[in-house]
Amino acid sequence: MILVSSCLAGLSCRYDGKHQLQEKIRILVEKKKAIMACPELLGGFTTPREPAEIVDGTGADVILGKAKVISRSGEDVTKQYVDGAYQTLAIVQQTQATTIVLKENSPSCGSKQIYNGTFSGAKIAGEGVTTALLRSKGFQVISEEEFMAKY
Ligand code: SF4
Repeated sequence: MILVSSCLAGLSCRYDGKHQLQEKIRILVEKKKAIMACPELLGGFTTPREPAEIVDGTGADVILGKAKVISRSGEDVTKQYVDGAYQTLAIVQQTQATTIVLKENSPSCGSKQIYNGTFSGAKIAGEGVTTALLRSKGFQVISEEEFMAKY
């Protein structure tokens, strides 16, 4: 089974109420070859919502309790991000997903890059909270860019 970020399959679940549709990924979900999950909705957020970024670290640091996820207005939303990551992990384990394709740059789903916590648009190398948790449990996570290049 393949697990994909919901926004890549066309669900309008991003913080700004938009999606990040990749038609190839949507078709996989339609054909029941992939299932979708949005860690932020699983963590209790609704759409639209305030954007949030990881401050002073990466998703791996958040999982270790060494960094926080903060919304643009300054609210600490770390708990929702960590909850969403664990909910996504449960889905991956239940479905025995072997390919996991998550949206690059997101504070939850990023796999190579995330925003740097200043809300300036600048990015740093690192992964989002959900990606970090999944990788710490031995699952491979790739971005939509890697997936589209490979398949
Ligand atoms: S948490 Fe992941 S699946 Fe949900 S909107 Fe953000 S990038 Fe997409």
